[in-house]
Amino acid sequence: MSKRDYYEVLGVEKNADESTIKNAYRKLAMKYHPDKNPDNKDAEEKFKEAAEAYEVLSDSDKKAKYDQFGHAGVDGQFGSGGFNWSDFTHTADFSDIFGGFESIFGSFFGGGGGRSSHSRTEQLNKGEDLRIELSLTLKEIFSGVTKTVKISTKDTCEKCKGSGSKDGKTATCTQCNGQGQIRQVRQSFFGNMQTIVTCPSCNGEGKIIEKKCDECHGDGRINKTKDIKIKVPAGIAEGQYIRMRGEGNKGRRNGVSGDILVMIREKDDDTFIRDGNNLISEHPISFSTAALGGEILVTTLADEKLKVKIPKGTQTGKIFKLRGKGLPEVNNERYRGDIIIRVTVVTPTNISSEEAKLYEKLKEFDTKHDLSPKKSFWEKLGTRLNDFFL
Ligand SMILES: [Zn+2]
Ligand SMILES: [Zn+2]
Repeated sequence: MSKRDYYEVLGVEKNADESTIKNAYRKLAMKYHPDKNPDNKDAEEKFKEAAEAYEVLSDSDKKAKYDQFGHAGVDGQFGSGGFNWSDFTHTADFSDIFGGFESIFGSFFGGGGGRSSHSRTEQLNKGEDLRIELSLTLKEIFSGVTKTVKISTKDTCEKCKGSGSKDGKTATCTQCNGQGQIRQVRQSFFGNMQTIVTCPSCNGEGKIIEKKCDECHGDGRINKTKDIKIKVPAGIAEGQYIRMRGEGNKGRRNGVSGDILVMIREKDDDTFIRDGNNLISEHPISFSTAALGGEILVTTLADEKLKVKIPKGTQTGKIFKLRGKGLPEVNNERYRGDIIIRVTVVTPTNISSEEAKLYEKLKEFDTKHDLSPKKSFWEKLGTRLNDFFL
């Protein structure tokens, strides 16, 4: 099978800039992340393919070679088997969000991660991963935040120190002779078939507890609530998650602890709507400001008050950009989005008699202004809106 074009893999144009390439990669990596697609070979391949494309296109030197010579220009950078995870140099950039990377590396390199030091029984009894949701305001996302959350987890039973046994004694399982596995022979059309299965009496542990702990009934864990501190990087978005290794449920009988997955949710903001790293807001202006010009004050998420100059003759729908005042990119605060202000000219209601008199006077001038519908105006307004709301 021939290799796909790297730009096609990431779905970006040939002239895409660094941050566009990075964003495209991030989206794909999240979509095809093995944690989200367990036992899906196709997703795993796509996950790796995207990493390979990003590895090349994010490196100006490799990118230049690829642009000139195609795959032949960069294949030599990787081992004889082609791109491998050991060739991927961006793990650290994304590890906050993709905590799962470590485990992927662990399995691709044949263990070697922290977990291989645990015994088979400890692995077998691994505690469950816990999923929690964390709702954040745009302000918190803007600056990054550390949150303390109370959660209930299963933790080591202190009475039996996690063993599950009342007297600390265990006996070798007689059904499997301590092997944890038993052989089953089945008769089939092809003759006797032998399969090896986990021993049902000891659950694969090879040991049996004779007297169970009164406190945990042999489980080795009890329910507890604890406070966990979650460090949220600035710029994180709805749907992304943070993995906290070993913070989930303790495993049965001193098994390895599971993880906590913190799913990020965004709270609605009174002023801004988020669009990627940009912040969009609508700002009312008065008739007189629209006609004569003036300025408005925009408060950023950093509580900065910025003046925006409104030129005379401003129409409803006009867009003003405050560059670099939007949200930072996760783990790369140098890249920031913009604040985009769309102004609306507000027609006053409940006017005083004094104001009414002034409007009456203004009305005398109305005939001087051409107020017939103009197609070009709507077209202009239309494209402007499309730019920002698509
Ligand atoms: Zn057994
Ligand atoms: Zn106990």
